[in-house]
Amino acid sequence: MLKLKALLNKKSKNWIHWVVGILFAFILNSILLNLPLDYFESLTYDWRVSLRPTPTLSGKIQTVAIDNRTLKEFGNEPNIKDHLEFLEQLLKAQPSYIVYLIDPSSLLGSKEEKQKLADKLNSAQILISQDNLPGAEQTELPPLPIPFQNLKTLPGPTTRDKIIYARDGVTRRFIISSNGAPTYQVILAEKMLSEKLTEIPGEFEFLDSKQAYIDFHKPGTYLPLSFSDLKSGLFNAENIKGKVILLGRETKEKSLDYVSTPFSKDVISMSVLELNANILDTLLQKRSPQKVAPAFNWVVTFIILLTTIYVVLKISPLIGLIVLTLLATVYIGISFSVFAFFNYWIAMAPTLLGLFISYYFFIPYRLVLENRRSWEYLQKNKLLVQVEELKSNFLRMMSHDLKTPLARIQGMAHLIISDHNPLSEKQKTAVENIYSSSEELTQFVGSILNLSRIESKEVKLQLKSRDINLVLKEVIQKCEDLSRKNRLEIRTELEPLFSFKIDENLLRQVFTNLLENAIKYSPVEGKILVTSEESNGNVIIQISDQGMGIPEPDLPFIFDRFYRSKNALQSEVSGSGLGLYLSKYFVELHHGHIEVESFVGKGSTFSVVLPMINKNYLEKGKTSAAREDSPYV
Ligand code: ADP
Repeated sequence: MLKLKALLNKKSKNWIHWVVGILFAFILNSILLNLPLDYFESLTYDWRVSLRPTPTLSGKIQTVAIDNRTLKEFGNEPNIKDHLEFLEQLLKAQPSYIVYLIDPSSLLGSKEEKQKLADKLNSAQILISQDNLPGAEQTELPPLPIPFQNLKTLPGPTTRDKIIYARDGVTRRFIISSNGAPTYQVILAEKMLSEKLTEIPGEFEFLDSKQAYIDFHKPGTYLPLSFSDLKSGLFNAENIKGKVILLGRETKEKSLDYVSTPFSKDVISMSVLELNANILDTLLQKRSPQKVAPAFNWVVTFIILLTTIYVVLKISPLIGLIVLTLLATVYIGISFSVFAFFNYWIAMAPTLLGLFISYYFFIPYRLVLENRRSWEYLQKNKLLVQVEELKSNFLRMMSHDLKTPLARIQGMAHLIISDHNPLSEKQKTAVENIYSSSEELTQFVGSILNLSRIESKEVKLQLKSRDINLVLKEVIQKCEDLSRKNRLEIRTELEPLFSFKIDENLLRQVFTNLLENAIKYSPVEGKILVTSEESNGNVIIQISDQGMGIPEPDLPFIFDRFYRSKNALQSEVSGSGLGLYLSKYFVELHHGHIEVESFVGKGSTFSVVLPMINKNYLEKGKTSAAREDSPYV
């Protein structure tokens, strides 16, 4: 018993799971945000860049390419003479700046031509850039060979994620300055915007340099003009006027002239010429993508981990899976939108990996908990079954042992009353009291015995063809003494009926109980009506009274064992709360049902509906044919 109490009182320690959950989320979150997940994060970054709508262009840049058409036309790379003619045509169209991404000292030409080009390029309007950085502890690139030694060349390096970050060779970043020396893009952007670019959005320190991410446009967004067209003067000056002209190569001959981009890992995904246009545009529009603060990532990931743990521990597996898939989808959607519309980069890899890990860690955790819980329930159940058995055995033994002495007491009392020796009035009342009390006790013991028979599945239907009206009349006659005592009038309206197979004994107990209740709970001089009729193959027996009635909240429980309504408990009427339970059970054994309609202060009507058709179960007369949900089956 102590063991049972301990088991029943054991409260599930929910808070422990929450402490485990919070600790887990905290530790996992801290590990995840420090894990090198750059490769996965770069994948999600590339998807974001590729799938967002292409950002608008500044419209201030025009690229000019030495392309295949140029090579075909000149039979080779354009020489210095071609460049001089090209520059002449170009300058006529009044560009704001010209950037040579080609090394002029590598061009072929005579000494004089070289000198001429050096003079031409030596202008504040023309910048010469090299895909290079100043050496260690240097702030400038080394001078070009004679006669270009006086031209100032500016760094314009191309970065590739080869040994850092995603290590996939993709170009995602550009250099703002190295060792304090700015790249040509920054110098040019400052000139064009006429302001100092002190703080570029998304700027970060990397080794000795300052860097930022490129606001990429899809490859092919900057359509280049052909060098050959420009040299021949075949161009619309409007496309040049006031713009920065970037001159580079786009021949697909050397992979060094190309980079891989977030759009494609192909080594010739985008020309270095177009990449330079993207970098310059990023600066001109001040639109480099920015990483959100690490604290923001930490908090969001922590919340998502906690939500995952809650969902796994509390919600059914299928709905939980749907909720978590939705959560991940919403998170991905928000990260994509924030990037597409605000250029903010929320870390996705650690959060999604965290969600995944928490899910797969807490699923077995939940299984362990549920296993333990069902083991506890099993133990509780076992103990409850044992206790129930003990109780039934005790009740049965007690009722059996009480039956004989009770019968003896009743017999003796009857003997004294019917003896010829006169008794004093006082003695007579006392003996009558003994008789009625022992009668009451006998009934109670009978009910308890029936209950234990039901519980040990011992009740068997003994079916015989009977006229149910006869059974009713017999019951009414038996209750006459009791009704007379309370000056009650019992009226009957019994329709003549065919006999059908019933267990007379059980139904007698049902009707006795219903009629005794009607008498018990009726006021003095009340009226009781007993009716019987046939309808649609059923016999309906109704017992109505004008008694205290049953309060509505008690009605659903009135057929439960040991249940008594509130008003009955407050009255002086005694009872066990077993009669209706047994009646319902016996009626259902006949495949019938019992109903009640009652109004407080007005009375109650109990209806017993019994099918007359000889069903199989009636033929068999076996309890095994009782309702499937009855304790008999
Ligand atoms: P009891 O021995 O208490 O009468 P029953 O199982 O026969 O036990 O009835 C259960 C309860 O239903 C009663 O305690 C009483 O509250 C209510 N009840 C039953 N019949 C009537 C009735 N005719 N009028 C009012 N209440 C009734």
